[in-house]
Amino acid sequence: MPVPSGNDHFDVLVIGTGPGGATTAARVAETGRRVLMLERGGFLPRERDNWSSRAVFGDAKYTADETFYDLHDRPFRPELHYYVGGNSKVYGAALVRLLPTDFGEVQHRDGVAPAWPLSYDDMEPYYARAEHLFSVHGKHGEDPYAGVSSKDYKYPPVQHEPRIQELSDDLEKLGLHPFHLPMAVRLTQDAHGRATTDSPCIRCDRVDGFPCPLGAKADAESAVIRPALAAHPNLSLMTSTTAERLLTDPGGRSVTGVAVTLPDGSPHVFTADVVVLAAGAILSAALLLRSASDTHPHGLANSSDMVGRNYLRHNNLALIAFSRVPNPTVFQKTLALNDFYAASDHWQYPMGHIQMLGKSDEWQLKGAAPRALGWAPSAPYGEVAGHSIDFWLTSEDIPRPDSRVTLRPDGTIRLALQPGNNTEALTRLRRTFEGMLTKLGMADMTSTRSLYLHKAFDAAATAHQAGTARFGTDPATSVLDVHCKAHDLDNLYLVDSSFMPSIGAVNPTLTIIANALRVGDHIAERIGTIGVS
Ligand SMILES: Cc1cc2nc3c(=O)[nH]c(=O)nc-3n(C[C@H](O)[C@H](O)[C@H](O)COP(=O)(O)OP(=O)(O)OC[C@H]3O[C@@H](n4cnc5c(N)ncnc54)[C@H](O)[C@@H]3O)c2cc1C
Repeated sequence: MPVPSGNDHFDVLVIGTGPGGATTAARVAETGRRVLMLERGGFLPRERDNWSSRAVFGDAKYTADETFYDLHDRPFRPELHYYVGGNSKVYGAALVRLLPTDFGEVQHRDGVAPAWPLSYDDMEPYYARAEHLFSVHGKHGEDPYAGVSSKDYKYPPVQHEPRIQELSDDLEKLGLHPFHLPMAVRLTQDAHGRATTDSPCIRCDRVDGFPCPLGAKADAESAVIRPALAAHPNLSLMTSTTAERLLTDPGGRSVTGVAVTLPDGSPHVFTADVVVLAAGAILSAALLLRSASDTHPHGLANSSDMVGRNYLRHNNLALIAFSRVPNPTVFQKTLALNDFYAASDHWQYPMGHIQMLGKSDEWQLKGAAPRALGWAPSAPYGEVAGHSIDFWLTSEDIPRPDSRVTLRPDGTIRLALQPGNNTEALTRLRRTFEGMLTKLGMADMTSTRSLYLHKAFDAAATAHQAGTARFGTDPATSVLDVHCKAHDLDNLYLVDSSFMPSIGAVNPTLTIIANALRVGDHIAERIGTIGVS
């Protein structure tokens, strides 16, 4: 993308085009004010390899060529994707609301997930807007544990294929409450929500980790950036442009500009009245630390010493169950369960959330644990894959000040993830669910699947990163105020997942989008609307 012509001063400058940055930029652009989005990556190419398991998981073709260092200073490659649209280019498109209880204090086995400075009711209207913006297909009211919704989804849920409908019926017979997993996909469907034959998604099992060359997955590029660029000539995007430092006025109260590296490698400074940081929870914290100055010696917005701390990222497990009943399902991501989300008869503490994954293929099963396939040791993997059912189990981790992002002396990033944080919840969730699957004739044959790149390094599982610049009312214990403006600065906002004081046990992105709309409304009001009737 060319450098926008004219002057280099913008009303609002947004760093990062993931779901957070894209959503706020698009909302603020509605004011008619000049808005610039900066993105370090380019557009993800649409090509055959988008759907190749080997290219995506084996060669990590689309994963950023990045090195972080863990707690013991060992290098690892994080699960990051530098593209227009950010990590949503490869996300699994499950867009789920946090539960109302997640906004209050939650007691876990290993500690407390703190309360948010706002409630589910405060966030609810933004959840409804976020669901519409990202074409989420779902059905409110099915999950008895979910909060109420003020609006229906725009689209009915993606229907279960027969094997998953059978599973749903069986789970209900066990007293559980399966519901349709809300999915951000674009289906061509009939009046009953059934995908019609020309629907690309329903013939496709390439969701988790795969980019969609057809644009059928609603990611930040297809759902927000392209439509917003088309609608608002006052909105610009610069790709392959990396923000290096945020600059402040001499008093240190306002961000005046952003020092960047342009696509040709040359340095440049853009100035702006309002700066919105949305580089992802880890990289936003690193950029603030990197922007230390005389007036902010410990990093920008860091008078509380909280920047980079309380890193969150979920305890996750991909579980494959093998049944003698064939599973010819193509689009498997249609079912979820919250029956173990809160303390219950199963355990006195919360365990977590369960949802379907995309279908394992032969290649992914080979990379799993074939020892578990004792019932069919010589079976070809393709045939075995025809019997597998894939689940994603998530439990909450607890914010800890020493789970944190820091800069090493050479400026590289250290992600010190403290081990064993509330992991018993996940173990118990797995055992409890396997107990249910046993009753359905599956559990003697379960296995875990290493879905992404984090087989060797747990810290590399950065997909659900959050919490490095939490929002709150007390500037001594939080980085951002309730509007996600830095306490220490007059005009710096953060709208990626870094604002979250706790992460719950469901996928984070719908909450990031809802919050980005909320902050976008606030910034739009602050800067005012011009030239728009
Ligand atoms: C494989 C995978 C599957 C997932 N599945 C799901 C799912 O099903 N449901 C769900 O809710 N979530 C899912 N997620 C998580 C989801 O992708 C993230 O929560 C979401 O993308 C975070 O949005 P964000 O705006 O906070 O940041 P990001 O998406 O990380 O975007 C940050 C952007 O900032 C850019 N950037 C970084 N540094 C700079 C800089 N210095 N200058 C300029 N630009 C910069 C990056 O290139 C990137 O584009 C998944 C993630 C992965 C990796």
